Amino acid sequence: MANEVMLNTNFFIDVIENMGRLTEENRNYWTRLDSDIGDGDHGINLSIGFRAVKEYIDETDFSDIDIKNFLKKVGMTLLGKVGGASGPLYGTIFIKMANTLSDEKEITCEQLAEMLINGIDGVKTRGKAEVGDKTMVDALEPGMKVLEEKKSTLTVKDLDEFVEKMKKGAESTIPMVAKKGRAMRLGERAVGYKDPGAESSYMLFKVIADHLSRKLN
Ligand SMILES: [Mg+2]
Repeated sequence: MANEVMLNTNFFIDVIENMGRLTEENRNYWTRLDSDIGDGDHGINLSIGFRAVKEYIDETDFSDIDIKNFLKKVGMTLLGKVGGASGPLYGTIFIKMANTLSDEKEITCEQLAEMLINGIDGVKTRGKAEVGDKTMVDALEPGMKVLEEKKSTLTVKDLDEFVEKMKKGAESTIPMVAKKGRAMRLGERAVGYKDPGAESSYMLFKVIADHLSRKLN
């Protein structure tokens, strides 16, 4: 039963550290995607942000830090350190996720689903983007819909669907003309290229799903 699984601050520290590892592995890939239709710094920017987050984790004693405070600090760090449009957007996701909570030391899977829904909703509001604009919203919103529908009874199968929808969403940006960001200026020339933010957000949010699936298995 999904709701018997409880997630503590350590779960989130593990998730964030693995997001940092994934970012290092994909730094060049994401930067290459951004070179196609942007200014070629997306992977570098995220790497700078997650390295700063790792520094915070390494120097912090977490015995008194709850999930909300941890995620808020992660969000603030990304907001301050990640350059370009993605800093505020990624920062917003984690801050909105944090603001879903009060001072819990442990939360349910359903609470995590609600946090993700709030985070994704926050990014839509902040970026004023909709599905079809060739942004991270194209990856995240289809995933959010799965969570909205399944949050109270989340299973590994639902999490697989969450990941699959985000992956397809990122791929769906390839034939799109961009309506937001730098790629907008390219008009039709952006067609044929995947949006770097959609790809990085799909891959980073897959890390959360992978960790949660392992808990539910
Ligand atoms: Mg860029």
